[in-house]
Amino acid sequence: MGVYESLGVRRVINADATLTRLGGSLMPQEVLEAMQDAARAFVDMHELQLAIGRRIAELTGNEAALVTSGAAAGLYLSAIACGLTVDVTRDLSLHGKQRRRILIQRVHRISYLPSVELSGADVIEIGDELGTSEGEFGAAVDERTLAVLYVAGEHLSGGSIPLEKVIEVAHARSVPVIVDAAAQLPPVDNLWRFTRDLGADLAIFSGGKGLRGPQASGLVLGRADLIDVARAHAAPAPVRGRPMKVGKEEMCGLLIALERYLSLDHAALSVRYEAMVQRVVEVLSSAPGVHAVRDWPSEAGQPIPRAKVTVPGRAAELRQALWRCEPRIAVAQPDDDTLLVNPETLCAGEEEIVAERLLALLQ
Ligand SMILES: *Cc1c(COP(=O)(O)O)cnc(C)c1O
Repeated sequence: MGVYESLGVRRVINADATLTRLGGSLMPQEVLEAMQDAARAFVDMHELQLAIGRRIAELTGNEAALVTSGAAAGLYLSAIACGLTVDVTRDLSLHGKQRRRILIQRVHRISYLPSVELSGADVIEIGDELGTSEGEFGAAVDERTLAVLYVAGEHLSGGSIPLEKVIEVAHARSVPVIVDAAAQLPPVDNLWRFTRDLGADLAIFSGGKGLRGPQASGLVLGRADLIDVARAHAAPAPVRGRPMKVGKEEMCGLLIALERYLSLDHAALSVRYEAMVQRVVEVLSSAPGVHAVRDWPSEAGQPIPRAKVTVPGRAAELRQALWRCEPRIAVAQPDDDTLLVNPETLCAGEEEIVAERLLALLQ
């Protein structure tokens, strides 16, 4: 009996997304092996952290890298990195500092901002739901500004000032730019595009989303001086970032996940996703009153197709019925009329199960 069965916790076929509440992603065999290997010996954690950081920086064409316990921890440590120094005995908090505003375009408002505010920084939204003008943004970058947080993703780009422009304006006033790219893999070149190519100071990624590393891992890439500060305020030392401890298993698992990700045949993976989506569309084409098509891009604006199933007025009811199946099936439901089937988190053959179950419910 598996651990989930022994607890009475049901397994889920995940056709929704790399969601934390569903377990993020599934680690490939080589990542599991790396974690097991790491678990078998004691090491000097500081030495390991530095060595892994150097290797990841090399692999991704960045100056430096830090493994964190997730992208949200990366947001916190990036804010700390912009506001404090490596001297952890001197700098305790961003509270009370003159520069402690982190600017974000209103259209970039995400639910993870409390992790930024935990640093003591004040998050200030610029513009409105329709967008932010360059004038408004330029005026907001002042002597109180600690950093600008830019949330990457095609789905958020409407009405927002492009990253290139944000970097130009912020850097002209010596203000660093942090890119939250937690769910922006694929495409793989985002690992160096925001920082090395476009000049952002830090970029943050989740380890447990597209990378398929440990669920409790994340990555901060970018400027060495800032990453030195973030590292100084992170575990293993008993400092402010200590509650976000990263284990040796997560560090090694994430490194191997990254190596694997860099060597993947991304074109072949796209072909596989297209075939899965095509299969779902095909199976559902025979269902009465249903319209199923290939849709693009993914919920996080990534270059991944998905099946969009239009079921007028019945989306919530069908989503719940799928969730009650054994095993449970999770799909996305953006509105009352639509279900989305995302191939990224499906294991081989599961697209068939999702499509057949949905077809049965529709008949
Ligand atoms: C998922 C996500 C996060 C949080 O990432 P974790 O690795 O789960 O901590 C932060 N920002 C964005 C935009 C995300 O999509």
